[in-house]
Amino acid sequence: MPRYHMNRADLAITDPEDLRTILRRGKYTVIALCRENEPYVVSLSYGYDPAKNALYFHCALKGLKLDFIEQNPRACATVINDMGYITGDCDHAFRSVVLWGEMSLVRELDEKKHAVEVLLNSLEPDPEVIKKRSPISDPSYDKVGILRFDIREMTGKRRP
Ligand SMILES: Cc1cc2nc3c(=O)[nH]c(=O)nc-3n(C[C@H](O)[C@H](O)[C@H](O)COP(=O)(O)OP(=O)(O)OC[C@H]3O[C@@H](n4cnc5c(N)ncnc54)[C@H](O)[C@@H]3O)c2cc1C
Repeated sequence: MPRYHMNRADLAITDPEDLRTILRRGKYTVIALCRENEPYVVSLSYGYDPAKNALYFHCALKGLKLDFIEQNPRACATVINDMGYITGDCDHAFRSVVLWGEMSLVRELDEKKHAVEVLLNSLEPDPEVIKKRSPISDPSYDKVGILRFDIREMTGKRRP
């Protein structure tokens, strides 16, 4: 798909490590899905896996977003490191990325376990506390919905 260049090239973040830092710092993303001519936007907490260049999500095993993904896996998402509105400057300080890629439901047990590790390590300051408090047995993973967003393209922008 042809892409526009960023209007303000001076605000673009292009260093891959800077882009990864935004994803590491983010806690949730807003994902745009589409089926036929119908859009759907959904917010999800995520874990970032730099080795796979992917985001992982935990979710229920049914629902509107899964219906959309089944019909069309292509997705666009944004993650914002929000540093707040700058009062008096009519400006907002942020670092953000826009991601393009595909969503899929993870079915294999080993990858589900990996995804839960990634999620806990990304979201929790002390993942071991949660693991001890709420261990997940192998059969229980059948009831755990895990989605993966494979990142194909990523752009970054900052202000100021
Ligand atoms: C910051 C944040 C983090 C979240 N993290 C997770 C997460 O990690 N895992 C997870 O499963 N969910 C998370 N949610 C909730 C998520 O946004 C969805 O509500 C949920 O995943 C159900 O989505 P669904 O498509 O299956 O909706 P369904 O349960 O099928 O419901 C669809 C209907 O509910 C409405 N709806 C769905 N979500 C919302 C919403 N957030 N606000 C208002 N209306 C809504 C839709 O417009 C539609 O009418 C998070 C929400 C926020 C705001």
